[in-house]
Amino acid sequence: MANAEVRCPPSIKTLIPTTTMTLPDEQAFRPDTLAVRAGTERTQFGEHGEAMYLTSSFVFDSAAQAAARFSGAEEGYVYARFSNPTVSAMQTRLAALEGAQACVATASGMSAILSLAMATLQAGDHIVASNGLFGATQQLFGGILAKFGIETSFVPATELDAYRDALRPRTKLFFIETPSNPLTEVVDIAAVATIAHEAGALLAVDNCFCTPVLQRPLALGADVVVHSATKYLDGQGRVLGGAIAGSKAVTDEVFKFLRTAGPTLSPFNAWVILKGLETLRIRMEAQSASALELARWLESQAGVARVHYPGLASHPQHELAMRQQKSGGAILSFELEGGRDAAWKVVDATRLISITANLGDTKSTITHPATTTHGRISAEARAAAGIGEGLLRIAVGLEDIEDLKEDLARGLAR
Ligand SMILES: *Cc1c(COP(=O)(O)O)cnc(C)c1O
Repeated sequence: MANAEVRCPPSIKTLIPTTTMTLPDEQAFRPDTLAVRAGTERTQFGEHGEAMYLTSSFVFDSAAQAAARFSGAEEGYVYARFSNPTVSAMQTRLAALEGAQACVATASGMSAILSLAMATLQAGDHIVASNGLFGATQQLFGGILAKFGIETSFVPATELDAYRDALRPRTKLFFIETPSNPLTEVVDIAAVATIAHEAGALLAVDNCFCTPVLQRPLALGADVVVHSATKYLDGQGRVLGGAIAGSKAVTDEVFKFLRTAGPTLSPFNAWVILKGLETLRIRMEAQSASALELARWLESQAGVARVHYPGLASHPQHELAMRQQKSGGAILSFELEGGRDAAWKVVDATRLISITANLGDTKSTITHPATTTHGRISAEARAAAGIGEGLLRIAVGLEDIEDLKEDLARGLAR
């Protein structure tokens, strides 16, 4: 009985943001400030670090309040499949960085893309997507959604006429990823936005590789941004997560799907990503600077036939990339003259760079796309996509650039 006061803390309902809250005030701050401050809501304890709310459900002051929360008449938390304060904080912060009205977080990047499709499409609708999307996205569109009567046309990523030619009466969604993986092809976001909007369709951009630090698709005319937060937003290879950011009209539809179907981000993962966002700019800038240096160095190495990196003057869309992105990003690929043998030698000679297909980590990673990420598609399809046996992809981390060069030089010399 003595601790009755402790048992009944003041209601925090006035402190909690809604799932898809808009940010008129916070958007007045500059991105670096938003990255560390947006979404911060202190409890009565005045904690400085963001609190982590590991709770699946929330309690109500009365039967009437419970009813009001369930009906939506009163804003507030009900159940963590719908919303949770830690997840809300992460959503608010990412929305601020993307310049979006609202954001909905999901359990992974793939569940973000699935949720977007389920929220905006129905049987008979059609998607126009750029070639060279993340493998699972291609399988989701070409395989799973096709089963439910949603067809996708894949078009060459850099050919604007192909997007127009692919239009059908029921094209509802354009979906692009730029730069592409692993060849770093750059899609003209503003131009594709114009084509999509003329057709009355939405343009969604997978902004995983650039993050809002290097590229803001909404400012270029896109309607929706999707993220695999698993990559640079966490940035340290710890958790899975995803997000959809855009207008409230779109995110409200996504939220309706999410609260019912449940591909919800866990509060623990949301907290890790929330803290990852605080260092996103300095990581992206440092990793991009190293990637540019490594790309230049690789171009000068014997046995290297070609380097794909948007920050290089030799990149076919260098000018577009520099207009649309702040830098070339942290991912590059390069082709070895000696084909698979030469490529595998470089991989096997590494002692530092991790041999893994993951990316977006502070630890650099190397992968041979033809036998890993793109190993399941036919040799012809691989050749058509420009993914040769001599191609290697590196996602550059935060190690000393000289150590990275030495790690690659060993295999290149063999
Ligand atoms: C990893 C990745 C995804 C999928 O994200 P998960 O978090 O693994 O589900 C989607 N798009 C791109 C570009 C990715 O790199």
